[in-house]
Amino acid sequence: MTAAKNGLLRRRTDKAGDAGSKSCQSSPSGSWDVVDVDSLPQFLRDNEFLLSGHRPQLHSIVECCRSAFRIHTETCNIWTHLLGCVGTILLAVYYLTFVTSDWLHGVTFSVFFSGAIFCLGASTIFHMLICHSEEMCILMAKIDYCGVIALIVSSFIPWVYFGFYCHDSTIKLMYMSSAVCLGSLCIWFVLQDKFREPRFRTIRADGQIFGCHDWLIFMAILYLSGGVIYAMRLPERLWPGKFDIWCQSHQILHICVVGGVVACYNGASKLANHRLSLGAQVCNTTSS
Ligand SMILES: [Zn+2]
Repeated sequence: MTAAKNGLLRRRTDKAGDAGSKSCQSSPSGSWDVVDVDSLPQFLRDNEFLLSGHRPQLHSIVECCRSAFRIHTETCNIWTHLLGCVGTILLAVYYLTFVTSDWLHGVTFSVFFSGAIFCLGASTIFHMLICHSEEMCILMAKIDYCGVIALIVSSFIPWVYFGFYCHDSTIKLMYMSSAVCLGSLCIWFVLQDKFREPRFRTIRADGQIFGCHDWLIFMAILYLSGGVIYAMRLPERLWPGKFDIWCQSHQILHICVVGGVVACYNGASKLANHRLSLGAQVCNTTSS
């Protein structure tokens, strides 16, 4: 992207200014048309490289929910995590009903599934309601970030439990409580209004990157790629206006997050199977 293009985009955004918010009211009948980025109120201008196809500000929660069935810049963001959330719920029901062997096995995986479902569900609601009002946008963004942290902390639990299967419960509790404390600290940080400022975009991306543990290479690659693409806003930065509806950076991040949840589940369930299939034998023959 050239400096001239950047300047043009900036001028377009600046020129629209506050006047833009006046032209983005939904009609009383609930019908509305997608608008250009120039017509958006300031709080909805998160990505200036998406030039058209935006929802206007919709002042009704019902209308925001209905907008999931229309094509605009958020449609794919809503559906990627909504389908991911439904898929995770089905997977949780299957795993907890047919696979778990004892109550501790069930509890550790229940925590992981709950974190993933909360993360994907909160993200779906965030993308659905973000166009309601600035207050709603700020509130939903905080819940969305809390969801990411919940995924990070909860994905840690089955890994610790089965990774330290033969150690006494003090070590497991120590790691688990450290994860919960760090997660609580992160939640406190993201609940600060300052966290939404553009200068924290890279840190917000880091939250996605470290959603699971780096010893599962595939999962690490997914989170790393998703986080970098989100922070750099690729590919729309290179071709502004060409990825307004499909294949924009946020959608790629969403797909990476869903892929990361699946990879995390695969790794953790394989580790659990391995530990449980060997039973007490593994603790007698190895030190871990
Ligand atoms: Zn999102």
